[in-house]
Amino acid sequence: MDPFADTLQRLREAFGSGRTRPAEFRAAQLKGLSRFLQENKQLLQEALAQDLHKSAFESEVSEISISQNEINSALRNLRAWMKDEKVPKNLATQLDSAFIRKEPFGLVLIIAPWNYPLNLSLEPLVGALAAGNCVLLKPSEISKSTEKVLAEVLPRYLDQSCFAVVLGGPQETGQLLEHKFDYIFFTGSPRVGKIVMAAAAKHLTPVTLELGGKNPCYVDDNCDPQTVANRVAFFRYFNSGQTCVAPDYILCSPEMQARLLPALQSAITRFYGEDPQSSPDLGRIISEKNFQRLRGLLSCGRVAIGGQSDESDRYIAPTVLVDVQETEPVMQEEIFGPILPIMNVGSLDEAIDFINRREKPLALYTFSNSNQVVKRVLAQTSSGGFCGNDGFMHMTVASLPFGGVGASGMGSYHGKFSFDTFSHHRACLLRRPGLEKVYALRYPPHTPRNLSV
Ligand code: NAD
Repeated sequence: MDPFADTLQRLREAFGSGRTRPAEFRAAQLKGLSRFLQENKQLLQEALAQDLHKSAFESEVSEISISQNEINSALRNLRAWMKDEKVPKNLATQLDSAFIRKEPFGLVLIIAPWNYPLNLSLEPLVGALAAGNCVLLKPSEISKSTEKVLAEVLPRYLDQSCFAVVLGGPQETGQLLEHKFDYIFFTGSPRVGKIVMAAAAKHLTPVTLELGGKNPCYVDDNCDPQTVANRVAFFRYFNSGQTCVAPDYILCSPEMQARLLPALQSAITRFYGEDPQSSPDLGRIISEKNFQRLRGLLSCGRVAIGGQSDESDRYIAPTVLVDVQETEPVMQEEIFGPILPIMNVGSLDEAIDFINRREKPLALYTFSNSNQVVKRVLAQTSSGGFCGNDGFMHMTVASLPFGGVGASGMGSYHGKFSFDTFSHHRACLLRRPGLEKVYALRYPPHTPRNLSV
C-alpha cells in the first residue's frame, strides 16, 4: 500500500479547487505560521536544544527570528509580489496587454535537513505558501525532537487540506519521490541532491537544490589577525560547525598562520571558556555516525588547537588543524563540524587557483584590509554567495538571493526570491478580438499583393 497516496490526493484536490490562490488565503497561512512560532517558542527551543544542544541565543537568531522575519516580509509584500508585471512590447503587440503572471506551481515538496531543522523547513515553506501552492513538508528524521513538533503542532496552524507533514528517512523519501510533484525544493547534501534530481527528472519536475560543499576562507597577510580570528571562529563553531555556509578551511601564508593561531586560541577561550565542553554556547554533533566521521578527521594533519572529543556527549572541541595535505579527507569532504584546517598558500594567485581547481562552493570568504584583494578574489572566482571581511552575514540580507552554483546547488530563495522560485512566471499577451484587417497582413499567401492589402 502506498502510504502517501491519500495525503497527496487531498493536497492535489485542494489545489485544484483554487482555494490557495487568493491573497487573503495566503496571508492567513502566513499568519498561522507566525502564530506557530510565537505560541510554541519554548517548545521549539527545547526541541532544538535536545537535537543539537542549541543555546537559546542560537535558536533565537538562527531559527526562530530569521523565520519570523521571512514571514513578516512576505506578509508586507504579498500583494505587490502577486501583481502582474507589465513588460515592454514590440511593434506588433503595441495595442495588446503584455504581462508576467506569477502563478503557483501546484503541489510542492519541501525536503529539509537537520542542521537548522526549523528554519530550513519554514523558510521555503513561507515562499511556497505565499506563492499560493499546496505543500508537503518532509523534515529531517535525524533532528527527531524538532521533527516531532513540526509534524504534530505545525499543521494545526495551517489549512490542513493544503498542507501536510510526512515523516521518514531515506527509504520513505525515496518512495515519496516516485510521485509526481509540481516543484521540489531540497536542502541537503550534494549526494542526496543527485538522487532527488534524478527522481524529479522522471516527471520533468523543476527543482531547487540547496546543497553544501567546502567554503574557502582566504586570509590575506594585510589584516588584523585577532579580528579575523574572532569572526572566523564565531562562524566556524556556531552550531558546532554544522552550517552549510560555515568557513570550511582557511587559506593563508605560513606567516599569517603563525599570527592567527594564538588569536584563534584566544577567541575560542573567550567564547567557550577554558573547558568548552561545559559551555552552554557550544552545540553537539547531531548523531553518533557524524561524531565518528568527525573524530576520524581529527587525525588529519596536526592538531594545533583543541582536538579533544567525548563520545558519550557527542562532543568535539573547537579544533584547528595545521600541516594538512590537500589529499587528506579533511580537505576532500565537507567538514560540517567544529574543525578548521589551515592550508598554506604562497600568494593570492595560488589561493585563487586552489579555489578554482575545486567544485564551486556555496560561500566564499576573504579577509583583507585591502579592498583590491577582496575585489580580486570576488572577480576571479565563483561561488553561491560571497562575503568580504566576515562570515555568513550575506545570507542574512533578505534582498540577496541565497543559493549555490555548480555542485553547491541550483536556484535560490529568501524574500522575494522565494516567492519567485515557487511561482511559475507565465508569459501572457491579451489581444482584443477586433482589428482583423490589420492582423490579416501576416496570413499567407505572402505575395506582394497580399502584403499591400
Ligand atoms: P542529507 O542530504 O543527508 O539529508 C537531507 C534530507 O534528505 C533529509 O530530509 C533526509 O531524510 C533526506 N534523505 C537522506 N537520504 C536520502 C535518500 N537516499 N533519498 C531521499 N532522501 C534522502 O543532508 P543532511 O545530512 O540532513 O544535511 C547536511 C547537508 O545539507 C550538508 O551537505 C549541508 O551543507 C547541506 N545543507 C545545505 C544548506 C543550504 O541551504 N544550501 C543548508 C543546510 C544544509
